[in-house]
Amino acid sequence: MKNYMNLENEKKFCRICLEEEEDDKDEELFSPCRCSGTSKYVHKECLNRWIEETTNERAKNQCMECRTEYIVRNDGEKETFFQDNLINTRKICVMFFIPTILLGSITFSLDKNLNMITMLDGGKIYRNTICQDYFYNYGNVVRNETVCNPNSVRDYVEYYPILGFDFYISFYSGFWALFLILFWYNMLKKQLKNKELFFQKYRNCKFVLHCLICLKYIFFYYIVRYDMPEVACSAALPNMILDFTNLSILHKNTKFTINEINIEITDKNIVLPWSEHYNANESGYNMIEITSDDED
Ligand SMILES: [Zn+2]
Ligand SMILES: [Zn+2]
Repeated sequence: MKNYMNLENEKKFCRICLEEEEDDKDEELFSPCRCSGTSKYVHKECLNRWIEETTNERAKNQCMECRTEYIVRNDGEKETFFQDNLINTRKICVMFFIPTILLGSITFSLDKNLNMITMLDGGKIYRNTICQDYFYNYGNVVRNETVCNPNSVRDYVEYYPILGFDFYISFYSGFWALFLILFWYNMLKKQLKNKELFFQKYRNCKFVLHCLICLKYIFFYYIVRYDMPEVACSAALPNMILDFTNLSILHKNTKFTINEINIEITDKNIVLPWSEHYNANESGYNMIEITSDDED
């Protein structure tokens, strides 16, 4: 008879390879069945190898000592996210450019008093003129003339409606891209089967970075609005290209990460730690019911 009480205080060891648990070892010991004492613990790797190599069919899904059927999770749940959501670059193109251009055009048409510019300028109506001196020299006659032109974002937008469209579209480009990123994030969170694995590989900070890139035009606006107002009103195209690139990179990288996960997932069964009161709805413990016909 073994003394189990003493073993509780000793180091755990694997019942297959008989190695003791080491702190620096990646492989952790766990107990897959009701056994206690010397048979309590086993390495995941050792048990999986044993299950693969044994010719005894029964030993593949139950402990031959205590006859407990292992709780297994089928590891064959590959991600079908991109099969379920047939999103490709062309679709992103449509989902991004059309609403951006529509939103920009409609708000510009409706915003007759250019309230958005007033709001961006801190509630003030900012106008500015730029003056240049011209000297004319016709033989004996020398003339000196000063010409002043309006030079603020508001003036440009009022004077050239095309720049107004450009300005409003630049503005909505980032916001619409931000909306699409958050939508994408939400979809991944809801539909991925291996969420934890995905967000371990594709960390939230990467999503934050994608979101920050969307806000670039606001910073750009405040940098150039006084000195180069014409630049602030003609940035729609480069801005949209940047936002579209940002979205494409996010799409590509998430797809790459999901492919990586699918490569890692084999079609093996993984034996989970034994639990007397496992919840059939809890993730991981829901694949195989424990049958009682072997308990004689
Ligand atoms: Zn082992
Ligand atoms: Zn056992």
